[in-house]
Amino acid sequence: MYGVEAVACGARRGHKAGVTAPVSFDARFTRALPADPSRENATRQVRGAAFSFVSPTPVAEPVMLAWVPEVAALLGLPAEPTPEWTLALAGNRLLPGMVPYAAAYGGHQFGNWAGQLGDGRAITLGELVAPDGARWDVQLKGPGPTPYSRRADGRAVLRSSLRELVCSEAMFHLGVPTTRALALVGTGEPVVRDLLYDGNPRAEPGAITTRVAPSFLRFGSLELPASRGDVRLLEQLVDYALATQFPALGPRSPQAVVALFEEVVRRTAALVLQWQAVGFVHGVMNTDNMSLLGVTLDYGPYGWLEGFDPAWTPNTTDLPGRRYAYGNQPSVAQWNLMCLANALVPLVGETKPLEAALDAFADVAADAQLSTMRAKLGLSPLEARAHDDRALLRDLYRVLSSTETDWTLFFRALADVTPALEGAPDAALVQPLERAFYAPAEVVGEVRAGFAAWLRAYLARVGAEGLEPTQRRARMNGVNPLYVPRNALAHTVIQAVEQGDTALLATWLEVLRRPYEEQPGREAWAARRPEWARHQPGCSMLSCSS
Ligand code: AMP
Ligand code: MG
Repeated sequence: MYGVEAVACGARRGHKAGVTAPVSFDARFTRALPADPSRENATRQVRGAAFSFVSPTPVAEPVMLAWVPEVAALLGLPAEPTPEWTLALAGNRLLPGMVPYAAAYGGHQFGNWAGQLGDGRAITLGELVAPDGARWDVQLKGPGPTPYSRRADGRAVLRSSLRELVCSEAMFHLGVPTTRALALVGTGEPVVRDLLYDGNPRAEPGAITTRVAPSFLRFGSLELPASRGDVRLLEQLVDYALATQFPALGPRSPQAVVALFEEVVRRTAALVLQWQAVGFVHGVMNTDNMSLLGVTLDYGPYGWLEGFDPAWTPNTTDLPGRRYAYGNQPSVAQWNLMCLANALVPLVGETKPLEAALDAFADVAADAQLSTMRAKLGLSPLEARAHDDRALLRDLYRVLSSTETDWTLFFRALADVTPALEGAPDAALVQPLERAFYAPAEVVGEVRAGFAAWLRAYLARVGAEGLEPTQRRARMNGVNPLYVPRNALAHTVIQAVEQGDTALLATWLEVLRRPYEEQPGREAWAARRPEWARHQPGCSMLSCSS
């Protein structure tokens, strides 16, 4: 019998005024799965084990730069960070019950099998059992070297750590499944990075992000043992996944493994289509960065679509092939799922049911795309059956490409185009969209006529539903965000925090808590990308080097 049973773990929590009870940690991962027998913290190939015990390397001068109170509340932690937690999340001290480890996993990077990767700069401190019984893996990103660090230092710079914290919280508030972030701790130690891999390394401030998720299992967690023919370890990892994350599927059997894969296909398709809807480009959709739970994982050189362009990628490392460009994300997700299916074959004994589940991806994704785009346009899902909106969408993508049009602002502006404008001249009809255009002077002649023709077709479709303009506007603004964590904003906030000023970061996190609501006085947080950011390294151009 496989034993990932719930255990009594540590003291029970209770809140008395001003007193925080000790937090309970469990360690199902390290109890259930085989450990690397070596405890030496040196780079190596780890075989026959799911993880290595390793402790964070203490840092010089921990400073709490951001603490996310709603994540703290989820975990049953205080609303303000305590010195004890600051030290723990800097990796300078372990709290009772923490059993830190780095997980082994592999992955396909940019289409090629890369072998063992693993938590090279992440250490899970333990599985926190919250007061409501929910369990959260608490993980530091950037806490120093592990056996999986290969030739790198296990550290992260403030720039990338802040980007991860902000974006994961923004995603959560947008309603997109994601890992969460609890805290950002400055280490007081420099980290040397070559931002654009162009031979210009510089020392930057270091930081550690604390991420939390029900599990950090990745496609690559299963691919690694499969690639080595280690079926026993593969079975143990799948048992762990089923027992802890997919209990409804029951214990492992070929059918349960197929059902698991079907569930991952469904969740991944839904996730990627949500990314497409809000204009999020992950940037490094390698299989080691794909969560088995179907949540957004590993925020690196991500970006938010500004001018609509399916070929856009924020990741300079990916520029040659644009493999992970915006428009490719659904097909890359499917390719990644194929890698996962291959890893599961030994547990199913045949390929057919996995192939069938994989084939379903295209249909699930096409349906999800149509329904998310209909929602963005304010069209009712109930009316949808009566209309084939694919031509309307095709034409929309065409007009959006005819001049640089901001993906986020376009849908907010579209909500302001009312049926009363339908008979107006082109200029008046298109006018409400102006704030979405990067070069309004270009929107004349054929370009403007193209937008006007599309708007008339759209308003005719809206009219067929008989929705009140205010009703449609409210519905659209409820699904089309106004505030997304644009790269240029990140750049400005990072500079402030690097100078020791965290006020801007706090404001930004506050704005991103209500991304769908207009927040008077905070227009700057919703503005189009400024011209200076167009080619600025760290804004439009990011690399994996962080
Ligand atoms: P990523 O592309 O950031 O998802 O990372 C791919 C692999 O490289 C993972 O195994 C990471 O743990 C590892 N890695 C990335 N940066 C570092 C670093 N600074 N130190 C050690 N390992 C790293
Ligand atoms: Mg990664």
